[in-house]
Amino acid sequence: MSFDVTNPIGDCLAGPALAALGRHTEAPDAVRQLLAASAARLTDSAMVVEEDFHPFRDVGESRVKTPLPQPDVLHAIRALIDEVRETGFGPHSARFFGLLGSVMIDLSGTETQKARVQEWVDAGLTACFAMTDRGGPLATQWLSEISTDTPPRLTVDKVWSMNANRSDFGIIIVRQGKSMVMAPVLVPPGVYATAETCLSGPAFFDGHLPLGDVKMAVDQADPDWVLRSGGPISSKVFLSLARPFLIQALVAHVRWLEDRGRLRLDAVASAAVAYLSEAARNQSAKPHFDKHSEDQAMALKWIANETWLHLVVNGLVPGQNDARDLISLSKMEGSSYRCFFEIYQRNKRFRDVAA
Ligand SMILES: Cc1cc2nc3c(=O)[nH]c(=O)nc-3n(C[C@H](O)[C@H](O)[C@H](O)COP(=O)(O)OP(=O)(O)OC[C@H]3O[C@@H](n4cnc5c(N)ncnc54)[C@H](O)[C@@H]3O)c2cc1C
Repeated sequence: MSFDVTNPIGDCLAGPALAALGRHTEAPDAVRQLLAASAARLTDSAMVVEEDFHPFRDVGESRVKTPLPQPDVLHAIRALIDEVRETGFGPHSARFFGLLGSVMIDLSGTETQKARVQEWVDAGLTACFAMTDRGGPLATQWLSEISTDTPPRLTVDKVWSMNANRSDFGIIIVRQGKSMVMAPVLVPPGVYATAETCLSGPAFFDGHLPLGDVKMAVDQADPDWVLRSGGPISSKVFLSLARPFLIQALVAHVRWLEDRGRLRLDAVASAAVAYLSEAARNQSAKPHFDKHSEDQAMALKWIANETWLHLVVNGLVPGQNDARDLISLSKMEGSSYRCFFEIYQRNKRFRDVAA
């Protein structure tokens, strides 16, 4: 038996993520090994008990392809990524997430709602996007809800939302009544001003990016605050569109840190950063949303998370705050476990049983 480096369980479970991205950008060996190591570490009890670890099968071309909108704001996002390369992510983070927020409104707002938000933005107001709920990760545990009464009652209890402590209005994801259907709710400035907010902890990125908790109850909310256009698929489309741009911005930030001697890229990290850069750009250039899009966006985020963690655990980031920032990036918008688990769930039935 050969004892060259092998990781059969990790290789198997990292397979669907690498295959999804391999549809446009083949990963080098260093990235494959990084992801396989992560998959083996993240394998949970249900997987190790129930899995027979047969290889995953190629799921083939997508028959349904939905053209992705290309809102004008994407130009501004691309330009901002160039600025991140020059000055780091911190000073641009609020504007970056603000622009992503406007992509979301574009995908899920009515013309009236879009016009309303445009008016607020033109007046220099800023928003927070609050999804993480104090109740816990499962929708059944969420405390934030819009009731089905007329008029509806809105209850918000959110944690860890970027800039929530200094925002003027909110895009807040809540449960609709007792159903598990989530809805983004646009909380207008006058109402958001009544919310109780506080800092969740020390700010990230040299003080530029605070996270805040936000709590409020509105007895007579307006049903027109709910963003309903685009249907339930709009949040999937939004995340598939947004994540590759976030990865590009984070790659630019890491390169900026490297230029300043605040981190060092070893051979694995260099290969991973080069791969992320190319794969994220290829993903952003993909003109449609299809059955691979979510896996591709989550695979990118998973590889990025593992790259930042690789830098930290291998002593390549000497500053404690920089290390904290990089670890935080590995949690926001999808932790490794979350990405791994969701890709696994979507693919676990596609197996090559003859192998
Ligand atoms: C810098 C930063 C910015 C953020 N900005 C926002 C924002 O603007 N808005 C917002 O709403 N949220 C924001 N967040 C919150 C972020 O999205 C959360 O970190 C995210 O919701 C993940 O939640 P989680 O930590 O519960 O972990 P996850 O790791 O996603 O865990 C989800 C669930 O899986 C379980 N789990 C995790 N790992 C394992 C494992 N190995 N095996 C088995 N089970 C596991 C956990 O116990 C948990 O139940 C931000 C976070 C950071 C760090």
